[in-house]
Amino acid sequence: MAALDGQVAIVTGGGSGIGRATALHLAGEGARVVVVGRRKGPLDEVVDEIRAAGGQAWAKPADLAKREDLQALVRWTEGQLGSVDILVNNAGASSRVRNIRWIDQEDWDATIAVNLNAVYVLIQAVLPGMLKAGRGTIVTVSSLAALRPSLLGGAPYGAAKAAVRNLMDYMHTTFRNNGIRTTTILPGEVNTPIMDTRVRPPSAQERAAMVSPDDVARAVALCCTLPPRTTIEELVISPTLQRDQGPDVEISRWLGAPDSEKPEKQ
Ligand code: NAP
Repeated sequence: MAALDGQVAIVTGGGSGIGRATALHLAGEGARVVVVGRRKGPLDEVVDEIRAAGGQAWAKPADLAKREDLQALVRWTEGQLGSVDILVNNAGASSRVRNIRWIDQEDWDATIAVNLNAVYVLIQAVLPGMLKAGRGTIVTVSSLAALRPSLLGGAPYGAAKAAVRNLMDYMHTTFRNNGIRTTTILPGEVNTPIMDTRVRPPSAQERAAMVSPDDVARAVALCCTLPPRTTIEELVISPTLQRDQGPDVEISRWLGAPDSEKPEKQ
């Protein structure tokens, strides 16, 4: 019998990168996995891969910025599969503009919505079921940007990732004695499609030295498969190699700046 046999898991951002690898690992441990994201195509591919390997998964498109989408997602899951045992809050995105000097309200709000507000809505939706069951695991993928914010991820991204880490600490303090365990994962650079949205996307060689999505997924799976008596509160996962991010930071500083403010060479 696998460690998560029959357990119900929701993985947001499950169509790509860390979320995709996490969905595969949890399904491999016997979980019934609901894979969530906006684009149906990548979700279907993950579900097909899980089913081909003998696992159970469902693709549920939803926009994390829409509260009603998330509530409908949890209602569907509980109605079809039963109460949620594992919630992996993995979906996330940076703002288009990284410098607080130039970022507009819409870009700021969208970044807070997906990286922070969606975590609140999903936790609130799954909590009654977990409290009734007297057990549950919530893993949230924050970022090293929560500890070391910079222009690489940008102002609202770092702020949201720090806030969500605080929220997970709150969850641990408040609900640990109800059998609910909560983990914050803080990755450094991971070689996923999110790198394509960097102001200067890293080269193939730089990406090859980063943490792989599968490495992070193995850590998530560990947090979920340890006996319920044990909680990993927090994990910082970094590439061993520290690359020079200075040039990327400098390019990020000027994205969105009016021409009159930009230095000559930008
Ligand atoms: P990714 O492949 O770009 O994954 C992000 C996922 O989030 C995508 O599958 C995307 O799917 C989903 N998503 C984004 N906005 C959404 C929305 N509004 N509604 C629903 N789904 C949404 O990148 P990743 O690196 O695996 O990112 C996973 C998590 O790791 C994120 O929280 C990210 O901040 C965090 N992280 C990554 C790194 C890194 O270096 N890669 C480092 C630290 C933390 P759709 O576009 O289809 O919606």
